[in-house]
Amino acid sequence: TSAFPAEDRYDRMPVRRAGNSGLDLPTVSLGLWQNFGDATPIDRQREIIHHAFDRGITHLDLANNYGPPIGAAEENLGTLLAKDLRALRDELVITTKAGYRAGPGPYGEGGSRKYLLSSLDASLRRLGLDHVDIFYSHRYDPSTPLTETLGALRTAVDSGRARYAGISSYSAQRTREALAVADQLGLRLSVHQPSYSMINRWIEHPGPAGESLLDVAGEAGLGLVVFSPLAQGMLTDRYLDGVPADSRGAKGASLKAEYLTTANLDRIRSLNAIAERRGQTLAQLAVSWVLRDPRVTTALVGASSVAQLDDTLATLDAQTLTPAELAEIDRYARD
Ligand code: NDP
Repeated sequence: TSAFPAEDRYDRMPVRRAGNSGLDLPTVSLGLWQNFGDATPIDRQREIIHHAFDRGITHLDLANNYGPPIGAAEENLGTLLAKDLRALRDELVITTKAGYRAGPGPYGEGGSRKYLLSSLDASLRRLGLDHVDIFYSHRYDPSTPLTETLGALRTAVDSGRARYAGISSYSAQRTREALAVADQLGLRLSVHQPSYSMINRWIEHPGPAGESLLDVAGEAGLGLVVFSPLAQGMLTDRYLDGVPADSRGAKGASLKAEYLTTANLDRIRSLNAIAERRGQTLAQLAVSWVLRDPRVTTALVGASSVAQLDDTLATLDAQTLTPAELAEIDRYARD
């Protein structure tokens, strides 16, 4: 209908600076972990990605293993980039990661230099790009020295294959260690990507050294890109009255039936009541809530339709949460 890209695409999306870096990210970002593999028609993927871009979502998050099958999400985005996003490449922040198993054998997972750099090259081939904007170590690998894992990230940046480097799901303590090693290597870590939601608050909890990941990131100027802020859909209206047949919960692979306990659903319904009183949907409350902390740079959401994405984006029109509302949320927002 209307021309792509929308001329007003930057008018309504606030951005936040990722820590001490020079990189601004939209406060809502889109992840391609699910719904962008080969089981989803490419036209539907295109519709969601174009709509996201029209609404100011410049940041698309990937990993080497997203699909199914493994690698398909990068290949599909590569197809879409080649089709009609080529001219917009420099308006996009495209990220990828390596760490979890993405291929057979000893070089198909982990934190080795061998795996990380070959995986990045394979990601770039699938995407049809000469660089990604952020390359992440997807997980801490206890069997590989941090100097090697972070050295590979440094090579990725120094060789121009990545603009920035990040780590994902490293604990507060491992993040401290990684920051120190990165310093020695002359590598700047810019972002950390942890999970965070009203029912998954681990980044607030102090680790053995007494600091939380939020503390470490705040102090070090590491931007937090928080994933699954909707708890994979549990913090939306999706499961209030059962498990819809077309939902992630029905597939049961990553959102398991055992997460949807009566106790969890009770808390979700109580949070939904708070959202309703604010004139919001639960998804909007969930995103407002993770963004209440300025150390969080962006809420990295998923979406299986344009309608869902629009619902989530309406968060941007919401009133700031009051101290009284935050206190009430704390009664139900537990791990
Ligand atoms: P969310 O918590 O945002 O869950 C997204 C799911 O919630 C959607 O697929 C949809 O479920 C449902 N949903 C979304 N919006 C709405 C809405 N407004 N109303 C109702 N339901 C809604 O995030 P994800 O778990 O998808 O993760 C987001 C991204 O984070 C990933 O794509 C990936 O990029 C990143 N990630 C990173 C990880 C890491 O290790 N670093 C691990 C996991 C994710 P349905 O499909 O059922 O319709």
